[in-house]
Parts: sequence; C-alpha cells; structure tokens
Amino acid sequence: MQATDQTMKEQVQTLWTSKRPLIISGPCSAETESQMLETAQRLAATGKVDMLRAGIWKPRTRPGMFEGIGVKGLPWLLQAKKITGLPTTVEVATAKQVEDALSFDVDVLWIGARTTVNPFSVQEVADALRGVDIPVLIKNPINPDLELWTGAVERVQKAGIKQVGLIHRGFSSYGNSEYRNAPMWHLAIEMKRRNPDLPIICDPSHISGRRDILQAVSQKSVDLDYDGLMIESHIDPDNAWSDAKQQITPERLAEMLNDIVWRKEDVNSEEYHAALEKLRQQINHLDDELMQILAQRMKVADKIGQYKKENSITILQTNRWNEILERAFKKGEAMGLSKEFITKYYDALHMESINHQNKIMND
Ligand code: PEP
Ligand code: MN
Repeated sequence: MQATDQTMKEQVQTLWTSKRPLIISGPCSAETESQMLETAQRLAATGKVDMLRAGIWKPRTRPGMFEGIGVKGLPWLLQAKKITGLPTTVEVATAKQVEDALSFDVDVLWIGARTTVNPFSVQEVADALRGVDIPVLIKNPINPDLELWTGAVERVQKAGIKQVGLIHRGFSSYGNSEYRNAPMWHLAIEMKRRNPDLPIICDPSHISGRRDILQAVSQKSVDLDYDGLMIESHIDPDNAWSDAKQQITPERLAEMLNDIVWRKEDVNSEEYHAALEKLRQQINHLDDELMQILAQRMKVADKIGQYKKENSITILQTNRWNEILERAFKKGEAMGLSKEFITKYYDALHMESINHQNKIMND
C-alpha cells in the first residue's frame, strides 16, 4: 500500500480540523473517465468545493442496477486529484475495497449506510484499516438506530483510526413521500451530542432524493451547526447512471452554496449574548414548570391507577385516549403546535402514564 503524499495529507488534516463548512461534492458514481474529470474540473472552478467524492463500488438495494465501475474508476479519481489539487473520498465496504482505494491514494474513506448496519462488514473494514492513517467518515445506518452508528464509530476507532467523522444521510422509512430518507434530525442531533469531538456532515442528496428540496435540507443542517455538506453533482444529472433525480450540476451547486445563509454558532457581541441569555433563562424557567406539571399529571395518573386496580378495570381505555387526543389536536392547532408534535408528545405522555399505572396495579 502506497502512503499518501505528505503535502496532501497536511491539506486534508487542515480541512478536517479547521475548514468549516467542509464541502464535499462529486458524482454519485464514477461512470467514465471524461465524466469524472469534467465533473472534477467544473467543481474546482467554482472555488467552493474542498473534496471530491465518487462512488466506485455501489451497494444497491435491488440487483440489476448499475453497481459501480469498480477498480477501473480509481485511476480516474487519482487523475482528477492531480488536475484539480482536491483530495478525494470514496465509499468502501470490504477489506479488498479498502486495499484498492489506498493503493490509488484515496485521501478519505467513507462507510456507507448499507454497511454501517452490518457489524461484520464494519469490522472487516476496520480490520483492514489497522495501521493506516486516514480519515474515515461513517454514514448513519439505513435504519434509525444510534447504537449501530455508535458501534461502527467504535469499531473504526478501536482499529486505531484517529480521524473519524459522521455523515447524516437520513433513514429509510416505509411510505415516506417527502424524503427519500427521512432526516429524523433529532437522531443526528443526539449523535452529535454524544460525540462532540466528531465532525458531522450532512448528505442532503440522499435525504432528499430530489433536487427541489436539496437547498432547504442543506439550510436546515447549517442552522443545526453541522460541520459540512456532502452533495452529489454530475455534469449531466438527468442522465446519471445512479441517483439521477438528486444530482445537480457543479454550477448549480455553486449557486446553491451561495444562497445558503451560513449562520455562526456563536456571535461575539455582548448585547446579543445578554439578549440570548435572557431568553435561555426563560426557557429554563418554562422547562422547570413543565416538569412540575408533568410530575403532577403522573400523580393523578397514579390515583386513577389505584381506582382501576380496586375496580378491576383495564389500564388502556381506548375511547378515553382518543377523546384526549382529539381535544389536544384542536387546542394545539389553535396555539400553533403541529399535529406531529402533539402526537409525539402525547404518545410519550401516555406511555409514561401507562407505566406508572402498570406499576401500581401490579405491585
Ligand atoms: C452514496 O453516497 O452514493 C451512497 C450510496 O450513499 P448511502 O450509503 O448514504 O446510501
Ligand atoms: Mn448516490
């Protein structure tokens, strides 16, 4: 295995630790040499891209689709790097792919969503990385399971990889129409909270699955203080061999990046801080009140549990629950609370009440 050229290693190190937002772009799949080189040159010409991506081996959910150009595409990527000076990243899913990617000086590796779900595959990739000094990005698993995502991070870190990052690409959910992969932002936020030292990059392309919402999804991740974006781009998006609907031209990417409002996590103005601090105090105060009310509600639920126990009534009273929900939807709507929020909030509340009553009835 060839070591990556030292100056490029330093460039990647600087990007990794201090270039924010880190912008990664390139085709879903490397298709032909000219497509790869032209995409890379047009991306570089925008001056807005830090790293080139390309899928060389494509794990497709169903057989019969384009499964990647394979090793043949790696020299194209190396050539693209030589021409543009941009480092490269590819997805790897097996030990052999790690070896091939390293032998063509790929600078950053990423583990795809269909690999993160499988601890055997992640372990195989991790073992192949032992003794190698390269940054590795780990996409969330296709299913909404933070433990699997965490497990993959741990396996790669245990193999000695120091620079590990996260990519949020959304989660499969049956019957979801708006997104190709539901973002479930709360899961990514929780992963970020648990791993404050790992950079987290959003992949709006695979979340959206279509061009028209790419910018909105990207903006949301920027507002949530992500460290960067990985966006698929192609010289002729409609005729791309994979993920045609979600790819955009390098020029459109540049426009989109221009239109995004890049907010800072922190602003160094005293006045701003004082105002924010006041609002935060209000939030703390309201949260404390909410907590007290919730505790009171559970005490009432306990009393109901006692009554149900004495009268041998079941815990779950479906009609009563529907009545509560209907009431909450109506009231919530009038107060500007979404039905989605009310549903989640009441589900959690109901479960907690049931658990309380269960304890009383079965103790
Ligand atoms: C990709 O980045 O092209 C890809 C296959 O992504 P994911 O693993 O998120 O599906
Ligand atoms: Mn893709």
